[in-house]
Amino acid sequence: MSTRLPWLLTVSLLGAGCTDRALEEEARGVPADPGPGPPEDTPDPEDPLRNAVLEPTTALQQSGLAGSIVAATPGVRVLVDGHPAAGVTVGFESQDDYGGAVSVTRAQTDADGVATAQTWELGPYHATYVVVASLPGTDVEPVEFRAATTSAFELVLHGAEAFDPQSREQLDRAVRRWQGAVVNALPSISGTLDTFATTCERQAPGTEVEHRGVHVFVEAEPLLDAAGRGGPCVLRADGSPAFGRVTLDAGIVAEYTHEGALESLMIHELGHVLGVGTLWPDAGLLRDPASPANPNADPYFAGAQARAEFEAVRADSGYEGVAIPVEDRATLEGSVNSHWRESVIGSETMSTSRVSLALAPPLSSMTIASLADLGFYTVNLLAADPWRLPVASLQEGNTTSSSFGCEPFAIP
Ligand SMILES: [Zn+2]
Repeated sequence: MSTRLPWLLTVSLLGAGCTDRALEEEARGVPADPGPGPPEDTPDPEDPLRNAVLEPTTALQQSGLAGSIVAATPGVRVLVDGHPAAGVTVGFESQDDYGGAVSVTRAQTDADGVATAQTWELGPYHATYVVVASLPGTDVEPVEFRAATTSAFELVLHGAEAFDPQSREQLDRAVRRWQGAVVNALPSISGTLDTFATTCERQAPGTEVEHRGVHVFVEAEPLLDAAGRGGPCVLRADGSPAFGRVTLDAGIVAEYTHEGALESLMIHELGHVLGVGTLWPDAGLLRDPASPANPNADPYFAGAQARAEFEAVRADSGYEGVAIPVEDRATLEGSVNSHWRESVIGSETMSTSRVSLALAPPLSSMTIASLADLGFYTVNLLAADPWRLPVASLQEGNTTSSSFGCEPFAIP
């Protein structure tokens, strides 16, 4: 049998203002006017929640795919003097920087003294997510729930230590974003790092390396007319990238970092390293490519899984051309044949405007699925951002004059 708590209580408020008190009491479900009680500066020995205990009713440690809803929603039982307490407000707070969220941040305990966060959705990054259950306004020990994303995809940067900490954090987030979207290990490759680096036109110590993912040499150097360039530089026998390189324009790193846009730029360049636009020809997925000899080409990406994602959003846009349209515009010289056609797709991670980069363009299920079409990646579409095509009447105006014309590195 549950214990219904008497609600004539006050909160110990040494040094706290009235507003704080009102908020705390409201958060705890205390009636607005509890009536006369003990003097405000006296801790109330009658506070029924002083001796409350929070007891988890679901697993404290879980795992799941990035972007998924965890199997067991965080839940706690409130016990007062060993008895379940009904009608108590429990707070649930998602405490991560990667977009995890609970659907309920305040819940009342039921007749069994139990409250839950209803649903807990992990963010799109490969990370450990945390939700804390507490009794707001009390010193009662909170309960911490953790969920780690599952991904066997090893994506490692070499050279990131040369960037300042704030920039490095955004580079790290870009790495975690792709580890949320790609989840498999690739065939093992081994050798000395300097040998691979030389192929990639970079320098590295001659240490032995063995890995089953993608290792990327990253540097900041002056670039002409581009914010960044990226591409694979060592491929395995199955065509998958083993090493890649990214160059970020040294002149924009500080500005992009300040705007929080370095992450988006790095996600874009790492997309080229993983194969977007760079491995399409070898995989036979780029059709009707544009070239000086074929100026009227209408290039498109022919991968079935990415196309299915494109078709799912095409109807709303009114677009009736080839699927999936790839950049063909002469004004975007370096972007031709290697990015989604911005005039149709609009703002998306793998189309290329400087303006949309600052606004964190969505990483679509289409781009993630296009990696699966290459044949060696296992992908997680739950890690995609919501996205849609602009309507056709707006499509002509989509290409911005400030597109940075990213030209991926060619495979050596
Ligand atoms: Zn690009």
